Amino acid sequence: MPHKDPEKRRAWDRARYWASPEKKRARDRARYWASPGKQRARKREWDRENREKINARARARYRPITITAVNCAGCGKALTGRRGKKFCSLSCRRAKDRALSAALHGEHGNSGISSSSVGAMHELVVSADLIKRGYEVFRAVSPANSCDLIILTKARRTFRVEVTTGHYTRTSSSIFFPPKKKDRFDLLAVVLPNWKIQYIGELP
Ligand SMILES: [Zn+2]
Repeated sequence: MPHKDPEKRRAWDRARYWASPEKKRARDRARYWASPGKQRARKREWDRENREKINARARARYRPITITAVNCAGCGKALTGRRGKKFCSLSCRRAKDRALSAALHGEHGNSGISSSSVGAMHELVVSADLIKRGYEVFRAVSPANSCDLIILTKARRTFRVEVTTGHYTRTSSSIFFPPKKKDRFDLLAVVLPNWKIQYIGELP
């Protein structure tokens, strides 16, 4: 607490003022400009005596610089722009994701085959799988039909089946496929790379 006696209070204020880091910096600046050569010699002397302490402090502060990607992880072209960038373009990112997914889960391997032929092949593999599971399978006669297959259970109940092509996400084992109208089928059969079939909905 400050003193009530004005003389003692002034002394107290002065002491606090001189003890503040700001005032110490001002004092050091004043000393330096009073005789720069002398202060520099003092500093050199202090540095010589405290070399170990200075080095230890520098070692504690040291962090090696890590250089992140400078070339596109897809095409290998030099990257420009923000730090930490991995790909030059969205198409490069997608190509790399596709390659990763293919390495993990395989590929459809249908390049060069028309999409309607691929659709027909997928309907056939799903039909074969459903026959193997013990259902009677009926195929659509017209491509304009609202679903691809009809199955008949042993209890003589019918189920509408839609067949589509799906893909695995980059690293996880979750899948994605084009959106379908839910009121058109009871069971969705997703054909994945390597002819794997995943059914969305309960098999009857
Ligand atoms: Zn690229």
